[in-house]
Amino acid sequence: MDMEHHTLIIGAGVAGLAAARFLQDCGQSVLLLDKGRGVGGRVATRRDGDRNAPRARWDHGAQFATFRSQSLIARLQKWNAYQVLTPWTAESHRMISAEGLNAFAKTLAKGLDLKNGMRTVHLSQTQTCWQAQTETNEIFEAKNLLCTLPAPQLLDLFAASDLSFPEEEQLRNIQYHRALTLLAELDGLSGIPHPGFLQPQSGILHTVTDQCQKGISPAHTITAHAAPAFSLEWYDRDRNAAASVMRAALAEIIESKIIATQIHGWKFAEPYRRCPLPCLKLAPGLYAAGDGFMAGDEDAAPDLPPRVESAILSGLAAAEKIA
Ligand SMILES: Cc1cc2nc3c(=O)[nH]c(=O)nc-3n(C[C@H](O)[C@H](O)[C@H](O)COP(=O)(O)OP(=O)(O)OC[C@H]3O[C@@H](n4cnc5c(N)ncnc54)[C@H](O)[C@@H]3O)c2cc1C
Repeated sequence: MDMEHHTLIIGAGVAGLAAARFLQDCGQSVLLLDKGRGVGGRVATRRDGDRNAPRARWDHGAQFATFRSQSLIARLQKWNAYQVLTPWTAESHRMISAEGLNAFAKTLAKGLDLKNGMRTVHLSQTQTCWQAQTETNEIFEAKNLLCTLPAPQLLDLFAASDLSFPEEEQLRNIQYHRALTLLAELDGLSGIPHPGFLQPQSGILHTVTDQCQKGISPAHTITAHAAPAFSLEWYDRDRNAAASVMRAALAEIIESKIIATQIHGWKFAEPYRRCPLPCLKLAPGLYAAGDGFMAGDEDAAPDLPPRVESAILSGLAAAEKIA
């Protein structure tokens, strides 16, 4: 049993990571738990080949991040995280990272107390603290608990824990699109016009990104995210069949031959309905944040689109309440 922390954060995506950095700056001890093997959640990069000099890379969730809030940029610079980002093209506001966008999340995670491979399966409350029990039967506890997993997953966790809160109605309003993502390797140039990003109107593919032109992959790799309707229809069907349909749609767009593909499913990809608040307090010491919330700031806009920037601002809004 762990009892050393002021705040426990479930989810080490960008919302949880930013909240943890903020609270640590305030002098709090924070522990992050994530079910994944690494940090970043949907800010994810896959590589093939040598760890230090990969042959191929794909950003397979978010393709770039945009930051409109100057005060957030200043904070990210203070954390040395903005420095791993670079504009996609000289004139672009789209920020990428030469080693893949996950490098940004990894930089945010530096110096944090974080445990990966820890899926929280049960929550409970004692008189003084919140407890999270993991799949491997470890129990962690802290005075405050911040949950940054997508709202439908958080509601499942509450149900499995026999917990319910009047405010959870706000969570029920948050709805996500699914996304099927095809990671392809080509035998040559894709032929996608500069800067290597397309939004086809075929109905099957939503975005197509040339990772080589983006500058993150030596090999000619492509990430193709399927459109929401296609992803919903195919999510629970045979993945090889879905990959074939996506592969055929991609082959119509690119000039070289596709030599290999993998498919990935995002059950909670991007929210199409959000909670109108920047974060939520569900009970004393219990908070929720993430891209399902409408976060922003006076520097940018109060309701930035549901992307990396607003997820970070939601995490920070919850952290401010906790601090
Ligand atoms: C296909 C796709 C394309 C996108 N494109 C862009 C883009 O180009 N630009 C952009 O800005 N945004 C983009 N986004 C959106 C962006 O990635 C998200 O808004 C943002 O990363 C969300 O961060 P988060 O911290 O709120 O959630 P997440 O990143 O989902 O983090 C939640 C974390 O919780 C963990 N978790 C879940 N359940 C448990 C549990 N029971 N126990 C422990 N841990 C748990 C997960 O492993 C995850 O790491 C895209 C998203 C997708 C899926």
